[in-house]
Parts: sequence; structure tokens; C-alpha cells
Amino acid sequence: MPISAPVIHSKLPDVGTTIFSVMSKLAQEHGAINLSQGFPDFPIDSELANQVSAAMAAGHNQYAPMPGLPALRQALAAKLQASGSPVDAETQITITAGATQALFTAFAALLQPGDEAIVFDPSYDSYVPSIQVQGARAIRIPLRAPEFVIDWQRVAAAVTPHTRMIVINNPGNPSTAVLSADDLTELANLAEQHNLLVLSDEVYEHLVYDEARHHSVLADPRLAPRSLAVFSFGKTFHATGWKIGYCAGAAALMSEFRKVHQYLVFSVNTPAQHALATYLADASHYTSLPAFYQAKRDILRQGLANGPLRLLPCRGTYFQLVDYSALPSHLSELDDADFAIWLTREAGVAAIPLSPFYAERCGHKLIRLCFAKQTATLQAATARLASL
Ligand code: PMP
Ligand code: GLN
Repeated sequence: MPISAPVIHSKLPDVGTTIFSVMSKLAQEHGAINLSQGFPDFPIDSELANQVSAAMAAGHNQYAPMPGLPALRQALAAKLQASGSPVDAETQITITAGATQALFTAFAALLQPGDEAIVFDPSYDSYVPSIQVQGARAIRIPLRAPEFVIDWQRVAAAVTPHTRMIVINNPGNPSTAVLSADDLTELANLAEQHNLLVLSDEVYEHLVYDEARHHSVLADPRLAPRSLAVFSFGKTFHATGWKIGYCAGAAALMSEFRKVHQYLVFSVNTPAQHALATYLADASHYTSLPAFYQAKRDILRQGLANGPLRLLPCRGTYFQLVDYSALPSHLSELDDADFAIWLTREAGVAAIPLSPFYAERCGHKLIRLCFAKQTATLQAATARLASL
């Protein structure tokens, strides 16, 4: 008798490989400057690296407590308190294996099959699959272009008796938009009116520029009791490969979060937690970030200012969106995915198209460039892009 393969009913039938892996691989294959996947090409602070070595040498190499090292949670509680977000270290913070795990854990802990979670397109690529795996539905609402602002009337109209959660990403990747204080008021009104949960992805909390200010859900007395917020040390301390972040928020929600967290990962890399607890004591390690990244943003923008790519405003994150519709028609007529491939192969600069962050082809002629790079990298890339 022939042995048949087991039938697999995919939980994610429409999902392929993430665009970040696809474009970084293509960049490598073609030797292109990689401004696609978001990661720095410069080293982490040697002080932080030394603190990890010291923690290992001191014997901190076994399991950390399940919610995270108390010293790290206390350092984070102090940091949050200083920015107007009162959070209890014992009951309201959990250290995670990066923001991606924090997001997935929050969805798994808080969504029931059949629940609806509202997300805003372009939405970071892990949200929708992570919601769907729970048997819940992602209700995707496009941000209003070209500023990528939330249309709150549209959100209100999308709420149904099944709506359980609103997911925000502030500052937004890939929109680069930063929510205003008024946005948070609208969110709080809607969340209170319909008794909704809020999951707020704030991994770029420190990467806000010009007059923009970051407003955390944790600092809003109406939102804090119904919210979880996620953060990433990978983003804040230039160490995306460490995969360490944290989730903070309402104690009742955190209690459910930890029930899932303890069986998903149990606990997170111990020596890195020791190092981060020490490193966080010096606030300049993160208060210096806006100026540091704004300078990089401006090198990229100045390098492209006289070229054919049109720059969109960039208020936050370490990404710059550019519009390629003014290029000669054989290029401007390409869709964004094909243009990003062409750019990688033929111009030697890899970028991320915007359509993977939408439910369907968005029609935008936009690509995303990462400026978390050394000056020489940015200059080499802009020289190529300005002469398209
Ligand atoms: N959310 C957003 C908006 C991101 O850009 C990223 C990418 N770092 C993540 C979450 C995931 O962060 P981590 O690498 O800590 O999992
Ligand atoms: N967050 C990063 C980006 O937006 C990528 C993270 C990943 O590769 N999963 O580029």
C-alpha cells in the first residue's frame, strides 16, 4: 500500500517568506547596498558588549526568572516612570525574546477565535499572521495617504460586536508616521466606548524627529488600564540580533500575557538581561538617539534631494519612504515589488516595497529605505540612487 503524506491544513495558507528575508537575500546575491531590512551596519556600544561578557564571566548563565530579571524590570520601571508612564516592575513588565514574540504572545493571550482586531495598513508584517494563527480576524484599515494618518471615523465605522482589540504602531513602520496627542484621545474615546483592548507597538519610541513627540499608551490614564505596549532593545541599542525586548501594561492583561509567555519561551537570555539592567542606568544611552538618527536621516535626505526620487516626510523610525513615480516610464510603471527587485539588481541598492504591508496591492509607487547605516554606506547608496 502506498503511504500517503499527512494532510496539512495550513493555518496561514496565504503566507510566504517575509519580505525582509527576501530582500536581504537578494541584496546579498547581487552585492547590493542593503537598505532593505531594518538593522544597523555599525557596532553596538563596546560598553554594552563588555557588560554582557562581564555577566557571563560572573556566572550569570542559567535561566532568568520567568518574567525577567528583577533588576532589569526595575530599571525599565524607572525609565517608564521618568517618561510619565507609571508601571509596577513586579506585575506590569515582562522581558521577551524581542518585540515579535511580545506581539505574538499578546495576541495569543488576549484574542479568542472569532474576535476581530483592527490594524492599520501599511501594517508591520507580523501583525496579521499572528492574529490569524489565533483563529481571530484582522480588520485592516488603510492609513490616509500621503501623510499616513488614521481616519478615526473609518475606525469607528469598522467596530462590530466582535471587535476586541485595536493595534497601533507608533512611530509607524513602514509609514514613518507619529501619532499625535489627539490621536491618542480618539483612540481612548473609541476604546472606552466599545470596551476594547489596545496593543501598542512602540519599538521606535526614541526615534522621533523635528517637532514630533512620542505619546505612549502607558502614559495615558484612560488607555493604560486597557493596554499592553511592546518595546525592543534590538531597535534601541542597535542590537537587532539579540532578540530581546519587553512588554509593559495593565497588570490584569500582563497576568494573562505571562501565562502564554511561560510556555512559549519561559525566560530570556540571562547575561544580556544583566548587561541591559546596568546599561539602562545611564539615560543618555537612549536620550541621545533622536539626534543620532535624525543626523542619519538628514544625510540620506540631502543625498537624495536633487535626484529623481521624491522624499516623503519622515517623522519617526529609521526608515525613509521615497516615491519613484517621476522616473522614466519603464521604471515608474513597474509595481513597487518589481521596482525594488530592479533597484537591487540593476542599481545596487536594496529597498523594501510597500505592498507587502497591505491586504492587496496598494498601488503606491513607494519604497522604504533604512538609514540606520554608517555615513559611508548612506553616501554610497545616495550616489547610486540620485543618478537613476
Ligand atoms: N515591530 C516593528 C514595528 C518593527 O519594525 C520590528 C522590527 N524590529 C519589530 C516589531 C520586531 O522587533 P524585534 O526584532 O525586537 O522582534
Ligand atoms: N523590523 C525590521 C524591518 O522592518 C525587520 C525585522 C525582520 O526582519 N523580521 O525591516
